[in-house]
Amino acid sequence: MSRASRWPLAQGIALTLALVLSLSLGAASGTEARTPAPLPEMTLPNASDRILVVAPHPDDETLCCGGYLQRAVAAGAAVAVVWVTAGDSFEIDAIIAERTLRPKGRGLEKLGARRIAEARAAADLLGVPRDHQFVLGYPDRGLTALLAGDGNSVQRSAYTGASAVPYPEALGHDSAYTGNNLRHDLGKVIRTFAPTVMLVAAAQDLHADHRSSGALARELLPEAAPQAKLYYWIVHAGLKWPWPHGLHRLHALRPPARAAQLPWQQLPLDEPTQLRKLQALRLHRSQREVMGWFLNSFVRSNELYAPAP
Ligand SMILES: [Zn+2]
Repeated sequence: MSRASRWPLAQGIALTLALVLSLSLGAASGTEARTPAPLPEMTLPNASDRILVVAPHPDDETLCCGGYLQRAVAAGAAVAVVWVTAGDSFEIDAIIAERTLRPKGRGLEKLGARRIAEARAAADLLGVPRDHQFVLGYPDRGLTALLAGDGNSVQRSAYTGASAVPYPEALGHDSAYTGNNLRHDLGKVIRTFAPTVMLVAAAQDLHADHRSSGALARELLPEAAPQAKLYYWIVHAGLKWPWPHGLHRLHALRPPARAAQLPWQQLPLDEPTQLRKLQALRLHRSQREVMGWFLNSFVRSNELYAPAP
């Protein structure tokens, strides 16, 4: 390389560096400019409220709503949780829990029973009385198929092999796995408990069981509890949500991009409420073994809810 050609090279490098610097500064100031406005705070429950959380799986009650349930109990409201499935399809989880290579059938039913017990313990800690803890026991990862047809065809769980609710403590123990039986059982819980506020999964949640249970609750509400106000929550919104992963109590949850169009409100959580939510999540031991980092990501300075229009 000749001496004459070195100068343009040096100038080129300097220019490139300047460009990169200005771009990164621009990006930083752009980020600052986009700092989102704080979300409005949601109305807190009062002593005359009755709060029902519709949890597609054991652990959703704490992930979505562990703070809200505590605030509701502190305000004197009645609280209840209904678990639509027993979370009995989580195969990796069953391998760890059962120490077998290919758990299925009874192995997964045992996992389902274990997950129900864990969720009950978590709900106890959050202040939900046992007689307001409702187990339905419909097939994990099977709700969409169950609700898709005419509601009469009997579905078989691809995981446990069951074609009827196998859990003795379930509301409709031995009921065939049909959409109409699921509608009947969830409708019965809603009518019996008569909520004033119902917290259900948003249609934007990535898990099909979440979307289906939320849609069913929404469908049943006008007849079963016309007085109830519906709020949506979201748990599965992509690999980068909640971000950052893990336990970051001082971070606030922000609405995920895929559900940005919902009118989100926030419920601020103080430290004791956060710590109890964390304690409740730790009771979901079967889940902690495989995805503790995900569970911890929901212990934040707030929870997010979007009122249904
Ligand atoms: Zn779930």
